[in-house]
Amino acid sequence: MKKCYLIFLLLLFACSADPVDSEVPVDAVEPDPVEVVVPDYDNDPIYSKGRPNLLNSYWDVFKESAALYDIDLSHIEDVQFISTDLPDNVAGRANGSCEDYVRILIDETTFRNLDTGEQIFLMYHELGHDVFNASHDGGGLMAPNIRSIEYNLFQTEVSDFFTKVDFIEWTDEECEIIRGLTDD
Ligand SMILES: [Zn+2]
Repeated sequence: MKKCYLIFLLLLFACSADPVDSEVPVDAVEPDPVEVVVPDYDNDPIYSKGRPNLLNSYWDVFKESAALYDIDLSHIEDVQFISTDLPDNVAGRANGSCEDYVRILIDETTFRNLDTGEQIFLMYHELGHDVFNASHDGGGLMAPNIRSIEYNLFQTEVSDFFTKVDFIEWTDEECEIIRGLTDD
């Protein structure tokens, strides 16, 4: 009986001499990881203000973006985003090219199914037509197909557009044709 008791004491001693919490968790000694925010459409200070359920928000986004290149669009007041059904899965269409107003037609069902980058790209492209009468010939932002585009490349395209590196206006002849097409 005495022997058992001694063993019990020894075991107890052995346990208390090696307390479990003397082991420092591995991750506690590592420095806190520095949070690296990869710039993207969703955390961009301007693009992130676009709200698919508030189409006018993209006008504010575009204006703020243009202001970075000292382009003031605040004088343009006749701006409408019109919700409508567009055929063939088209999400948006510029209806104010070569006019002194901005009319962007948006099929909201299709538009909301695009990812954030595509939504921003589409709005910049259509506003490029209506606000600046930019044709597809400039390429870059104004290349005809709305596509998924990586954030940094889009930044370059936006810069090239606003600084007129990639920018070609519709000709008068083209404008005449466009006005004929968009006449109600
Ligand atoms: Zn276009």
